[in-house]
Formats: sequence, C-alpha cells, structure tokens
Amino acid sequence: MKKKKTIRDLLIKYFKAHPKEDMSHGPVVDWVEAKYKRIYQKKPRDTWRSIRNLHEVGFLIKVKKGIYRYDPNAVKKIELENFTPEQKKIILKRDGYKCVICGRGKNEGVELQVDHIKPKYLGGKSTIENGQTLCAQHNFIKKTLKQTETGKKMFIRLYELAKKEKNEELLRFCTDILEMYEKHKITSHIVWKK
Ligand SMILES: [Zn+2]
Repeated sequence: MKKKKTIRDLLIKYFKAHPKEDMSHGPVVDWVEAKYKRIYQKKPRDTWRSIRNLHEVGFLIKVKKGIYRYDPNAVKKIELENFTPEQKKIILKRDGYKCVICGRGKNEGVELQVDHIKPKYLGGKSTIENGQTLCAQHNFIKKTLKQTETGKKMFIRLYELAKKEKNEELLRFCTDILEMYEKHKITSHIVWKK
C-alpha cells in the first residue's frame, strides 16, 4: 500500500525539484496546496508551519523572511554532523542524564552535552549508538585532546604558565592531562619538559 502523502512530503518534493534556488513562499504554497487539494479535496491547514519545521530540522535554509532554499549538500552535511533534538533527548535519557565519565548531572549543576563517541572527522555518524552524554568540562577535555598537536602544545604552554604563577591546582590539572598524552603515546614528538 502506498503511503499517504502529507503536506510535508509535497513540500520536500517541491523543494527537491528546485535545488539551490531561492524560493519565495507564495508559489511554493500555491503549488503544494493545489496538489494537496487534488488528492484530498480540501485545503491543508498547516503549510506554513510545515515549511518552518523543515527549516528547523535543517532541511531548508532560510534566505530571508519568506524565502527558503534547499541545498542538497548542506542537508547531507547536517545529517552527518548533528544529532537531532529527538536523538539528544534519547541519548541523555539512556545515560541517566549524567556525564558518562564523571557521573555528574543536573543535580550537581553541570551542563550536559551530547558528544560523538567516534568523532565526525573520522566518519563517526550521528546515531544514538554513537552518542554519549558528557558534562561540558569533559567534552572540552575530549575536544582538546582530539586536536592532539594543538592540544598538547596548549597544555604545555598552560603548564609553563602555571609553574610561573605557582598555581598548584592548574599545575596538577595540566600534569594529569600531559601524563595522559605520554601514557597513550599521543604526539610523542612534541616534548614536554617537566
Ligand atoms: Zn564529566
């Protein structure tokens, strides 16, 4: 059985037929509503809301008020890069609204973020399985470690600064991080002098 066409389906069809064109809402709404009327013998109710929603989920680019554009390349990028708000909700719930590294959550007043376990630049997909909940701090540490060369250099600079300022807490923090680089032999060509 063929799936019933929704106003959303018709909008997607219309925009896909006009890729990379700035479409003003008038002709879009006219075409879609005429098509809908032919199928259902009545006018659709929420054409406007459907267009706005397609923009919210990243399918349409809003050029300016009342003008939208569909760019297949941009959509592909969005699908690859971002978790949808629904996916984020599921991942946060699955992880018990806690950072998977330190176990802190809303009760401890920390901001939670959804992170790609396998990073996007290594082809990691935006799937529930590839998502994890991290607190803002651990997400920051992970992101910094990910850019290993820049990260290690940055922590060495920070370490030197902490030494100069005799900032014990910062020194301990940098030491921990830099020892992790050494332990896992990440960018061992960059030398850290203790
Ligand atoms: Zn954490």
